[in-house]
Amino acid sequence: MSRIVLTLVLCAGLAIWAFGERRTLIMHAFAATGSGAPPPLLPARDEGASVRWVDDYFTVERIAADTFAIGEPRYAQQNYSYLIIGSDRALLFDAGPGIRDIRTTAGALTDRPIVFLPSHFHYDHVGNEITFDEIAVVDLPHIRDRVTADGRLTLQPMEHLGAAEGMQAPTWQVDHWWAPGTRIELGGRTLELIYTPGHTTDSVSLLDAASGILFSGDYLYPGDLYGFLPNSSMADYLTAAEDLVARLDDDTRFFGAHRVAPPGAPRLMFRDLEALRAGLVDIRDRRVSGTGTWPRAFPINDRLTLLAEPRWLQRW
Ligand SMILES: [Zn+2]
Repeated sequence: MSRIVLTLVLCAGLAIWAFGERRTLIMHAFAATGSGAPPPLLPARDEGASVRWVDDYFTVERIAADTFAIGEPRYAQQNYSYLIIGSDRALLFDAGPGIRDIRTTAGALTDRPIVFLPSHFHYDHVGNEITFDEIAVVDLPHIRDRVTADGRLTLQPMEHLGAAEGMQAPTWQVDHWWAPGTRIELGGRTLELIYTPGHTTDSVSLLDAASGILFSGDYLYPGDLYGFLPNSSMADYLTAAEDLVARLDDDTRFFGAHRVAPPGAPRLMFRDLEALRAGLVDIRDRRVSGTGTWPRAFPINDRLTLLAEPRWLQRW
C-alpha cells in the first residue's frame, strides 16, 4: 500500500472514530477550556415568604407534609434537592455539587436515618466529596456490571462531567440497588422509582403518588433541558415522556433539580410534560428546526427549551 493510500485510510479511520466519539471529544474540549473550578456564587436574592435561608448558601422550603426542597440558589446552576421523610427513614434525592455539605441542612430537618439517592450521576447532583451513611443507586445492567466484588461503584468521567468544575468522580459503597419500579418504603409513605432516561442513561424520577408529586431530577425542570450530553438519548427522552404521560394524573406537580430564577423550588405542571412529549415528536419528525449551531435550542413552550444536537446528528 502506498504511503498516500495508507495516510488516507488512517485519516478516514480517525474521522469515523471522531464522529462516533464527538460528544466525548466536545466535553473534553469544554473541560480543557474551562476554569476547572466552580463558578463564583450568585448574589442572594429574595426568595419569598415560604422559603427560609438556613445560612448564607442553603434554603429550605416545605413543599408538602414532611417534604422539603433544599435549594442552592447561589450556585450557578441553582440546584434543588429533596428530602422526603417517613416514620422509619428519610430519602435525600440529590445532593448538589458538594460545594457545601448538604447533610447538615438535611439532618436538621429530621432525626430519621437518611438514604441518599442521586437522580443521575452528573457532578452537580452527587455531592462529590460528601460521604453518606447509606447510598442507593438505580439497578441497571450497565451500572451493576461495573461494581467491584466488595460492592464499590466508581462514577465514570463522561457520566459525571465534573472536570468542568474541577470535581473528582466519587467512588461509593452502594447499600441499596433499586430496580426501576421499586416501591421504596419510608414508613407510612411509599415512593416509586421510575426510570426516566433521556438526559442520561442513569436518570430516575421519584413518584410520591399520595402527594401527587413527581421529583423529576434533570429529566424535567423549567429552563434549558440537556439532550446532547455524552450519554443523552433523544429517543429515550421521548419514550420516557410517553410513559410518564400515560401513567400520571393531570394534576401531578413536578419538582425538578434546577431552576431559572427565584422565588423558590422549580415547579412544573402536567401540561409541561405533555408539551415536552409533543415537542420531542415535532423534533423527531422535523416539524421544528431550532436555533443555534451546537447545541441547537428547540423551543418546547414558554417554560421549557430542549438543547440537542442538530437534527442530522440525532439518532431516534
Ligand atoms: Zn444532569
